Amino acid sequence: MDYPAPIAKLINSFTKLPGIGSKTAARLAFHVLEMPEMEVSQFAQALIQVKRDLTYCSICGNITDTDPCIICSDQSRDTSIILVVEDTRDVMSMERMQEYRGLYHVLQGVLSPMEGRGPEELNIAQLIKRLQDEEVKEVIIATNATAEGEATAVYLSRLIKPAGIKVTRLAHGLSVGSDIEYADEMTLFRAIEGRREL
Ligand SMILES: [Zn+2]
Repeated sequence: MDYPAPIAKLINSFTKLPGIGSKTAARLAFHVLEMPEMEVSQFAQALIQVKRDLTYCSICGNITDTDPCIICSDQSRDTSIILVVEDTRDVMSMERMQEYRGLYHVLQGVLSPMEGRGPEELNIAQLIKRLQDEEVKEVIIATNATAEGEATAVYLSRLIKPAGIKVTRLAHGLSVGSDIEYADEMTLFRAIEGRREL
């Protein structure tokens, strides 16, 4: 026996989320069925609003509801340093640390030949443009310590260094393969303090 169409549709939607298989999707769909209608409606609205009200900052590529984002518009920040991260969650982690006062650039991923993601698929052209337009003295590459993160760091450093800009890499007190997103503030602080030139 097949599920009635509306629940089958919801199960199918849940399977589109990362890490959700068909069993978990069915469990979630039946949970939604038991939720009060008000809660379901708020949940559905949150899903729609996250797409409708958020955009990418035209300067740094961070997810934002204002363009430029609040970090790029903050006059008190040090505009001579740009810290390059893979995604917005890494910006959040760095900001929680409350020690870094420079700007960011969000790549929206890492180079991955396996997944067919080359430089054109990432927010790299805009980074190069910023380096030409703004007075940047140092670029800190803070991609994760994974094989793809390291390859992306090497690629960027080769691209940026000829312009005479200092390129540094976070000293990963973080173990290999670990994500910046999950690092605690002290580890991030040490990683940024101990950054080495590439
Ligand atoms: Zn921005």
